[in-house]
Amino acid sequence: MSLKSVLKTFDIMAECRKYNLGFWQCPNSLFLVMGAIIIVAMITTYFIGIRFLEPEIIIIIVSAVTIVLLIIGHSLVGSFARVAEANRMKSEFVGIVSHQLRTPLSSLKWSLDLLRTKRLGELSDKQIEYLDVIKDSNDRMIKLVNDLLSVNRIDQQRLEMRPKDFDINELIEKEIKELMPIANARNVVLKYQRPQSLSLIYADQDKIQMVVQNLIDNAIKYSRKDGGLIQVDVNKDKKNNKMIKIVVKDDGIGIPEIYKSQVFGKFFRGDNLIKQRVEGTGLGLFIAKGIVNLSGGEIDFESKESHGSIFWFTLPVANNK
Ligand code: ADP
Repeated sequence: MSLKSVLKTFDIMAECRKYNLGFWQCPNSLFLVMGAIIIVAMITTYFIGIRFLEPEIIIIIVSAVTIVLLIIGHSLVGSFARVAEANRMKSEFVGIVSHQLRTPLSSLKWSLDLLRTKRLGELSDKQIEYLDVIKDSNDRMIKLVNDLLSVNRIDQQRLEMRPKDFDINELIEKEIKELMPIANARNVVLKYQRPQSLSLIYADQDKIQMVVQNLIDNAIKYSRKDGGLIQVDVNKDKKNNKMIKIVVKDDGIGIPEIYKSQVFGKFFRGDNLIKQRVEGTGLGLFIAKGIVNLSGGEIDFESKESHGSIFWFTLPVANNK
């Protein structure tokens, strides 16, 4: 049995195949080879050491092994450099394509809005119906392109934050008003008890709006088929009084145990939603985590499949509060 077939049995090469790297370029296999050489070298040196007891021979062996390890180490560093370079080029490519797509999509949106106002002439009901379908697809494309740009900026640690003091209650109320028609269409009740006092936080308002929108939108999208109840709450964080905690609780389809560790990953979509036929890209929570962390907060969730989920995040209280 060759070393390659042993590796295949344990599927250690899976990562290498995924990244299209050969055996001698792949960090996983090189790491293994390095480990094997170190063990063999230690055992050989021991036996030679107790037989010959001549330090010169031991020094020669140790030096030879060190040279082999240095060569493998060099190859490992080269592989990492190639992977990093490929990653950089991918990010650059996604950035350029997204930027190029944004301009025509925005002008399409502008033209559709103008047509829809009927300032350029009357439209039949059928024409309006088709225009709405085009506008809907265009809006989804714009959202995808914007999400890709945000992901790219988070990956490259270039997401620009413009923090200021603002009342998170007002933002949530506005967001709930906007999402209410979608909730009603899915028979979902959206509840939010706005606190009496202001909840002033210090963060980038537009970016936090994206987070709130994503969490409530997910709670609606992943509700049960026969509707459900979503509860949004804002409180002081019990563990840290310098933070405000925003909680979005739903009684929807929940997240299976096996997927819990992947929820905040890029492009993750649970397969328990196949039956739900809901649109999504799997980027929303990755972006939400990036934004919350850059704002100095934390984001997490608890969930039970078929029972519901509780997503929460924290944000720093405004400085003078
Ligand atoms: P998207 O909603 O576009 O798929 P997200 O990043 O917002 O992407 O969410 C990633 C995945 O996490 C979803 O596809 C879904 O499997 C799961 N998920 C997120 N929020 C909920 C929720 N409230 N209830 C059940 N599953 C959820």
